[in-house]
Amino acid sequence: MKFNSTKTSFAKQLDAQDDLSPFRDQFVIQDPTLIYLDGNSLGRLPQATPDHMKYAIEHQWGERLIRGWNDGWIKKPAEVGAKIAEIIGARPDEVIVCDTTSINLYKLALAALQARPERKTILSDALNFPSDLYILQGISDLMGEEHRLDLIPSDQTLSVPLENCRERIGDDTALVTLSHVSFKSAFMYDMEKVTHLAHQAGALTLWDLSHSAGAVPLELHDWDVDLAVGCTYKYLNGGPGAPAFLYVRRDLQDKLIPPIWGWFGAQAPFNFDLDFTPARDLTRFQISTPHMLSLLAVEPALEIILKAGINNLRQKSTQQSEYLIYLAREFLFPLGYKLGSPTDASKRGSHVTLQHPEAYRICRVLIEPQDGDIRVIPDFREPDNVRLGIAPLYTTFLDLHQAVGRMEQIVKEKEYLQYSEEYLSVT
Ligand SMILES: *Cc1c(COP(=O)(O)O)cnc(C)c1O
Repeated sequence: MKFNSTKTSFAKQLDAQDDLSPFRDQFVIQDPTLIYLDGNSLGRLPQATPDHMKYAIEHQWGERLIRGWNDGWIKKPAEVGAKIAEIIGARPDEVIVCDTTSINLYKLALAALQARPERKTILSDALNFPSDLYILQGISDLMGEEHRLDLIPSDQTLSVPLENCRERIGDDTALVTLSHVSFKSAFMYDMEKVTHLAHQAGALTLWDLSHSAGAVPLELHDWDVDLAVGCTYKYLNGGPGAPAFLYVRRDLQDKLIPPIWGWFGAQAPFNFDLDFTPARDLTRFQISTPHMLSLLAVEPALEIILKAGINNLRQKSTQQSEYLIYLAREFLFPLGYKLGSPTDASKRGSHVTLQHPEAYRICRVLIEPQDGDIRVIPDFREPDNVRLGIAPLYTTFLDLHQAVGRMEQIVKEKEYLQYSEEYLSVT
């Protein structure tokens, strides 16, 4: 993609030509001057969600009380799962919403290892989200001394060539588990090819889709992916701490044994049998009473994505990330910023990372500017990364233009010198 103007008027022209621009109105934008580039950590609040929640609380909970479960709550984890399935290219009965991403990863990784008892290696990479690596380390420890977690080496920390995967996946690999889009650099794997390599070696695959669901088109079922987990509070806009989802390919559902046997995973929870018989389908991976209120908040958010269309969203996100990188090259690279994401758009998710030795303080200035300056919210990731998240449902080209302008000004005028280097508890 080529751009040939760095002018503000050109950014405005790109917004005017954008077919998806009306979707921004479906979100609550309290402060129109705020430039929010952190939709990859916490998506914006959809306009429809407050009324939906008011109804859920006042009518469903307030009036219907326990009857709410039979009115429809009990089916919600699967119903919302079926909508997510549409977004990630799975069959409707292959996705369910429950628990958190980390817990779902734990459940599915352990089930996969138990399905490959003769194999002892769990394969991941050093770009993976630390929580995922901690969970895998814990599981490896739990499985005993013979198990080990092996990390596929990356390429200058940005990407992992397919060749490295091919070399590491072998006869002893039980499970290949990776983040499809890396949280720091936005590097994106070729999921279909890696899954194929794993299958050729007899291993199972478990993908973390936290930074892909709602941002990039996926064909989980057609790519023969075995297992996946992901977040609903990032690009899916489900709200802070919204429950996560898990995917299990249909033919594996009655073969994998869930590691935590809770009553919601039983075939007939309300028989109150003293012995556990797992459900035949993927509901066996549920554990407990669903987090109904936070689950209901995910519903209106998914409708917006389904209406916009994931292919359209990806097309806009790619155009926006290319535009952002174009502006960064013009204005920021000469000031010491570097690109911390793959240059090839087909290998990049929906955020762009820019590195700078003063990244932390630059983020602080962006978020808490002096009076009169535009406020921009990106996030900081150790050690020197400023992550700029593009959520094509509501990010504008003008947002990106102004954010780059601020990042230029902050370094040129050394504004960050007036800010503390001490980290806040959440970056
Ligand atoms: C955001 C994110 C998570 C979040 O996990 P929680 O259990 O919801 O805290 C997990 N994995 C990846 C790759 C993420 O980006």
